Amino acid sequence: MILTSDVHFGDNLLQGWTGEEYSMLTHEKDFPTETTQVAIIGAGPIGLELAASLKRAGVDYLHFDARQIGYTISWWPRNTSFFSTSERLEIAGIPIQNSHQQRVTGEEYLAYLRAVVEQLDLQVNTYEPVVHIERLQDGFELRTQPLQGEQCYRCQQVVIATGDMAAPNYLGIPGEDLPHVSHYFTDPHYYFRKRVLVVGGKNSAVEAALRCWRSGSQVAISYRRADFDEKSVKNSILPDVKTQIRSGNIQFYPQSLPIEITPPHVVLAPTNDENRVEGESIIHQTDFVLICTGFRADLRLFEIAGVRLDGPERIPDYDPDTMKTNVPGLYVAGTAAGGDQNRYRLFIENCHEHVGKIVAAITGQWPEKLGSIPARQYSVPLTYFQAN
Ligand SMILES: Cc1cc2nc3c(=O)[nH]c(=O)nc-3n(C[C@H](O)[C@H](O)[C@H](O)COP(=O)(O)OP(=O)(O)OC[C@H]3O[C@@H](n4cnc5c(N)ncnc54)[C@H](O)[C@@H]3O)c2cc1C
Repeated sequence: MILTSDVHFGDNLLQGWTGEEYSMLTHEKDFPTETTQVAIIGAGPIGLELAASLKRAGVDYLHFDARQIGYTISWWPRNTSFFSTSERLEIAGIPIQNSHQQRVTGEEYLAYLRAVVEQLDLQVNTYEPVVHIERLQDGFELRTQPLQGEQCYRCQQVVIATGDMAAPNYLGIPGEDLPHVSHYFTDPHYYFRKRVLVVGGKNSAVEAALRCWRSGSQVAISYRRADFDEKSVKNSILPDVKTQIRSGNIQFYPQSLPIEITPPHVVLAPTNDENRVEGESIIHQTDFVLICTGFRADLRLFEIAGVRLDGPERIPDYDPDTMKTNVPGLYVAGTAAGGDQNRYRLFIENCHEHVGKIVAAITGQWPEKLGSIPARQYSVPLTYFQAN
């Protein structure tokens, strides 16, 4: 595998296009039309849970994913465990069983999702991105772009469950697109016996730094704040990274911000307490740069469909009792309902109820099986959730 900057399968699914351009592109052709009652966009855990519930309720639906089911989880770093415990990740009342009773890894969870799809025989049109939604008098028209050519569908209701991790948060600095720079940490092996600068100071950055160091890399961390925030770093790794920094095993540049990347080095500007650049820059020599500064949602389908996006986090306008957006017949489910979550509030565990509300709104009945298996009667107040 070649480490590339942003040639990544997880990058923006509607890359480079504005909603208007898509409308023009897709409206130039005539398409055959398939009809259904509900179209679900996105086959992450929450989209799949909704599909399972609609199927059980006998509702006619079509389900699309731009990539493979569980795609967001498929690009996580290898062998990363969920922060959430397994019973909070279970969907449609189907248990996760494993031999160790610990938190599951991304790979284990993908195997679980595949098993759910096979067990319930859920049909998902994978590798078929939805690129346009148009409101008609009596429902919606959806345009998709699978590899074999554009398709058109009609439905009465649409549910957008496209998640909130479509593309990385770019720093917007010179050199960020160089081949030794990546916004996706996939495997520490690539950095064995190499110097790597990790940019960021939350879970993903700290985890990448520790794993790279343990697998034999020379690691430095650049973080814009003076110290790690214990609310943003799991307590299973925070003392570890602090120990490695204190012992000199990992070099730490607190209050620093990369302002330029070249093949041999990164220019780090010092930041003050307000996170503004102040003082003289440092030149840090490195072989690789891993930018772990989080991800953002692609909200253009909402815009195309006419959903209002509110506030700085551009949260879709929806009724929390039904998950209906301001566009009649159009619902939002899963982490997509958080917009560009700057601080994560929506996780799999507190999105199961979105499915219940949508199914109840469509069928008049709350689904029998949601989230964990009913026998466990598992419920946790929102205040207990911590950032992943
Ligand atoms: C390292 C790491 C650790 C994490 N740990 C946790 C954790 O412990 N607990 C937790 O709850 N969350 C965790 N998360 C976040 C977790 O990945 C999300 O909470 C979860 O995937 C959200 O589920 P979802 O169904 O809402 O959306 P997603 O899983 O993001 O699914 C969205 C789907 O929509 C598809 N899609 C997008 N656009 C289109 C389109 N135009 N047309 C068709 N399909 C489209 C995508 O391909 C994707 O499959 C972690 C994330 C990372 C990176």
